[in-house]
This record gives sequence, C-alpha cells and structure tokens, in this order.
Amino acid sequence: MYPGSYFCAMENRILIVGAGLAGLCMAFQLHKRKVPFLILHSETLPCSSEKAAGLMNPVVVKRLLKTWMADEVLPYNRRFYPEVEQVTGTSFYTTLSVHRMFPNALARGEWEARIHDGSMHDFLSSEIYDYHPEAFTGPGFGGGDVFQASSVDCEVFIPALRHFFNQQRWMKTTDLRYEDIELLEDGVQFLGERFSQVVFCEGMNGINNPWFGYLPLLPTKGELLYLEIPDMPREKEVMKGIFLAPRKQGGFVCGSTYEWQFEHENPSAEGLEKLTTELSKITHKPYTITRHTAGVRPAARDRRPFLGNHAEYSCLHVFNGLGTKGYMLAPYLSERLCDFILFGKALPAEADIKRVKKK
Ligand SMILES: Cc1cc2nc3c(=O)[nH]c(=O)nc-3n(C[C@H](O)[C@H](O)[C@H](O)COP(=O)(O)OP(=O)(O)OC[C@H]3O[C@@H](n4cnc5c(N)ncnc54)[C@H](O)[C@@H]3O)c2cc1C
Repeated sequence: MYPGSYFCAMENRILIVGAGLAGLCMAFQLHKRKVPFLILHSETLPCSSEKAAGLMNPVVVKRLLKTWMADEVLPYNRRFYPEVEQVTGTSFYTTLSVHRMFPNALARGEWEARIHDGSMHDFLSSEIYDYHPEAFTGPGFGGGDVFQASSVDCEVFIPALRHFFNQQRWMKTTDLRYEDIELLEDGVQFLGERFSQVVFCEGMNGINNPWFGYLPLLPTKGELLYLEIPDMPREKEVMKGIFLAPRKQGGFVCGSTYEWQFEHENPSAEGLEKLTTELSKITHKPYTITRHTAGVRPAARDRRPFLGNHAEYSCLHVFNGLGTKGYMLAPYLSERLCDFILFGKALPAEADIKRVKKK
C-alpha cells in the first residue's frame, strides 16, 4: 500500500485516457504507488509519442539557455527511465553528447560569451573544435559540445510499457466515447465500472474533449528521416539547423521539421526536401533513407504543458500540451500531477491550467 493513501479499494481506481507518453508515465507513477488504475489505449487515433525522436537536450540551442525546468527534470529522468527499463526488462535509454556546429561567426561568438559569463558551464563545453571534419561539412566556424543530453528509443519504450500494463490487465484497448462517462458526486461511471478520478492524456485529440477542449492546443507537425550512413561517426548527435542522431540499435535519425499549417499528417515531399537540404549542410556522406515518418505534436501556444483539474468537476484531470519536449518533461510532471491528485500538492504554476481563461 502506498503510505498514507486510501486509494487502494477498487472503487478508488483511476481511469487514464490515452496510452501515449503522458498516459503511460501517469500509469507508471500510479503503479509505483500501488494505486489501482485502468489505462485506455486507442489503436485508431494518432499518437505523437510513437513518432518522436525521443531526444532530450537540456539547452535551448538558439538562445544558449537551460530549457524550462532542466534542474528538476534532468536528475529525475536519470532515475525514471532506467527504472522503467528494469521493470519492463528492456533497454531504450542512453546518455548522449551533442555537438553543435556553429553556422556562422555570430553563433560562435554567442557561445564564447556564454562560456565567459560562466552561467552554462555545466552544459556547454569551453572547448571549440571541429568534430570529425572529414565526415561533417561546414564553413569552418567550429562547434561546441552540449552536456547532459540523453535519448529514449520511443519504438522500444512505448510498446514496452503498453505490453507491461496489458499483461497485468491494467490496460484496455478502446477509444473512449465521451458520452460513456457518467459524472457522479464522487467520481465517474464508465461502462459499468466506478472510478474515483479520470486523467485525460489524449494528445491532439484533446481538442475534442468536452471538458478540456477549451485549452489552446497548437498542432505542430514534424517529420523525421531514418538513415543508414556508412562510416559515419556515432559518438554524438550533431546539430546544425536540424539534428542528426545515432540510434541505439544502429543507423541514424534526422529531423525535425516544424509546421503549424498542414493539409495532412503524413510524410510530405516538402518535408523530405527540407530535411535533405538541411542534411547536406551537415554531411556530404552518401546515405540511404530507410524510413520517412511524420506526426503531430500536441503543443501549447505559451509552450507550457497543461496540468490540472476541471473547475467544476474536480475528479476530471488533464495532462497534455507536452509539445516538443514530452520525453524531457513527462516523467517529472506525471509525478507532480500524481501528487496533486492523491495528496492535493500544488502543481508547477506555469503548467497549471488555471492560467488559461475559459471563454
Ligand atoms: C516528428 C516528431 C518528433 C518529436 N521528437 C521529440 C523529441 O526528440 N523529444 C521529445 O521530447 N519530444 C519529441 N516529440 C514530441 C513528443 O512526441 C510529444 O511531446 C509527446 O509524445 C506527447 O505525448 P502525449 O501522450 O501527450 O500525446 P500522444 O503521444 O499523442 O498520446 C495521446 C494518446 O492518447 C490516445 N487517445 C486520444 N484520445 C483518446 C480517446 N478518446 N480514447 C482512447 N485513447 C485516446 C491517442 O491514440 C494516443 O495514443 C516529437 C514529436 C514528433 C511528431
């Protein structure tokens, strides 16, 4: 039993809607606390988490600043992902060095200034150098290394957790129909079963949610190329406009595009053109494209996630808006949401949905 928790009777089960990154992290937190839950997994609705590159860069490269909540999430992720590996008996988490190739003298100067003021010495190398000049192209401005980056192989992580919860019979494959949720005084009834709370982790489908559809989600399409590049150095992810990252099981992934206006969610000729053009600025080595994929990130206009409960129906919760940083933020924020639901602890104010005025 989780210390101090009364959430162990079956009528206090929690319903999680959506088995993407947000829903699976939430489920893992409840599992660790021995709180009963059921997670709904859709095989028909799109899932951004399955299409992601899974890279976690602690630095906003254009501004050379730490990403939001880096101090909290980095140490948290270093414990969380290996714990999931251990529980599921899989391997998907790697620490990574990132080599930032400077596109011009200005970018190099900004890096030098940041090193000089000392504010980023935990994250940016003071050494500036060419990384394997024979393999990478460039106008010769050199580059520097970003420390404390890491990556998750999404194609292992997502199926591993789904498989684990499915085996325990804590997962059900179905699309939730909102009309099947009956609101009660102390929870909800869903297809004849009682739940004390519901957590909606629906990604972009959240715009159709009758209770949380007012949250301003900004669909942001992204495309990736999976590549084989013979004799390419594999020690580091390289960034210049786009990223080129070695994959744990071989090959490379390159991306990503950002589109806010798009006609469909599939890989496009424009995406291919953009990525191959940018790739030609990173390397001239011949490559083979093994896959071209696309997905839509559930981003928020103010670039902060959406966590919290409904103003009127306090048993309804949301965990969404993870945008471009889901793999970095979801483990830590799922713990914060869990503490909010189980113990009434405060949420990080910037992520709390209270900031959004309902129209
Ligand atoms: C091309 C691309 C590259 C990316 N690269 C990175 C990266 O390198 N690093 C990083 O951190 N992030 C990256 N992301 C972003 C990351 O994928 C998202 O932040 C994250 O996956 C969002 O997770 P989510 O669970 O909120 O949403 P989703 O992953 O979309 O999950 C929502 C789930 O809910 C299900 N669902 C919805 N409605 C219902 C319903 N009514 N009933 C049942 N199920 C339902 C959906 O089917 C889906 O499985 C990338 C995204 C894309 C598209």
